Amino acid sequence: MASHLILLPHGVGKLRHRPIVAASSNGSPYPETKKRGPVVLEIPLDQIRRPLLRTRANDPVKVKELMESIKEIGLQEPIDVLDVDGVYYGFSGCHRYEAHQRLGLPTIRCKVRRGTRETLRHHLR
Ligand code: ADP
Repeated sequence: MASHLILLPHGVGKLRHRPIVAASSNGSPYPETKKRGPVVLEIPLDQIRRPLLRTRANDPVKVKELMESIKEIGLQEPIDVLDVDGVYYGFSGCHRYEAHQRLGLPTIRCKVRRGTRETLRHHLR
């Protein structure tokens, strides 16, 4: 089945889990043929758990530069997010996430992959 791209304006406030790649006919945002393939979604920042947040410090200069760039041209590369039983976890993309927070953006574009509890444990190790 062909997939269609839906172009969304950057930083639109009321998008909640809106798929950018078209949903499959059963309503799931994941493609039917590749159940575990990634999808790109706009997710509210406060719905992404960041378990390693306090263990790593971001480079404030990088964050500032990203803020300027994101303001100017938008987020060019979505951050990677893991979906474990409907809960989103982010382990990378820390500077982009903080840049969005500081810019006051409500959502961030994420490349979402489904994961198991075992995948989650692996990331937490
Ligand atoms: P992070 O912790 O978010 O991964 P890095 O500084 O390691 O921060 O990498 C920044 C990433 O952000 C790069 O992969 C770059 O391609 C991506 N990116 C996405 N949107 C932008 C943008 N508007 N300006 C600059 N880099 C961007």
